[in-house]
Amino acid sequence: MKISDIFKAKKAVYSFETFPPKADSDISVIYDVLASLSDLKPDYISVTYSAGGKSNNARSLEIASLLKNKYHIEPLAHLTCINSTKEKVEEAINVLKREGVENVLALRGDRVPGIDCNDFKYCSDLIPFIKERADFDLAGACYPEGHPEAESLDVDIDNLKRKVDLGLTHLNTQLFFDNEDFFRFIDKVRAAGINVPIQAGIMPLTKKTTIDRTIQMAATKIPAKLARMINKFSDDPEALKEAGILYAEDQIADILSSGASQGIHVYVMNNPYVAKRITDNVIGLINGVNKE
Ligand code: FAD
Repeated sequence: MKISDIFKAKKAVYSFETFPPKADSDISVIYDVLASLSDLKPDYISVTYSAGGKSNNARSLEIASLLKNKYHIEPLAHLTCINSTKEKVEEAINVLKREGVENVLALRGDRVPGIDCNDFKYCSDLIPFIKERADFDLAGACYPEGHPEAESLDVDIDNLKRKVDLGLTHLNTQLFFDNEDFFRFIDKVRAAGINVPIQAGIMPLTKKTTIDRTIQMAATKIPAKLARMINKFSDDPEALKEAGILYAEDQIADILSSGASQGIHVYVMNNPYVAKRITDNVIGLINGVNKE
């Protein structure tokens, strides 16, 4: 099923992101995660794809296929291009086509020092490349606080418009912790004439080890309320997990109440417990929006 058809049927689409296990661990460690996430019946599950370096991408493609063909959940397969060649990207497209995957999140990816490949410069180079080869629904990434390389949020939104005009059918946001940034972004994006559905990307911060890495990677700011929570509970893993779940649920409730997004994409970090807790508490709100 094309995810654009899900957006046509629902006002609030609910989905998860998963990632492949490291190359040195057995792929089977992901099976229980996929089964548990599928049991929660999200509208789709996305699968990350490396942008070079220690590539684990065959596993990403395999997980997308498993979701589709074994767990019967629609996959959204991420596909990056920046450190790759046209031949390699085409190979991945062919695998996805062969496995019946219908939805791809087209991404540039981050530069990896030492890899110098110029087949693709921006995501806007990848979109027509895929469209010439497959009839996928193509989604794209967007950044409520602006992409870290962009000189301003307005310039980033101009570049986003270029991507959308090339044929993206929906957007998923980078994670953010201050909903006001998201609401401001949505106002600007809509004013710029970008009309595709946008799902808010929410990451529950539940582990000390992931907090610093996440903040650095996503270049997102931490509101005082969240900083207090991290400080207070950083030495108590259980309490930190509970606080992180509550913070994410609060963000989701606020976003769904606002009507600003067309759904929620939860970065569940392959943690079925966190996914279940959040789903149990927000699915009633998602259903409520869908009944309107
Ligand atoms: P682009 O849209 O190409 O934008 C990159 C930068 O270039 C921006 O600053 C933009 O303003 C500018 N720009 C864009 N087009 C042009 C143009 N034509 N001319 C001039 N400037 C331009 N990374 C992974 O490696 N694997 C993943 O699975 C993955 N999943 C992600 C999922 C989501 C929802 C998000 C938000 C990010 C994800 N990322 C992933 C991270 C992403 O790859 C990086 O943020 C990357 O730096 C940008 O990718 P992009 O597709 O947004 O790039």
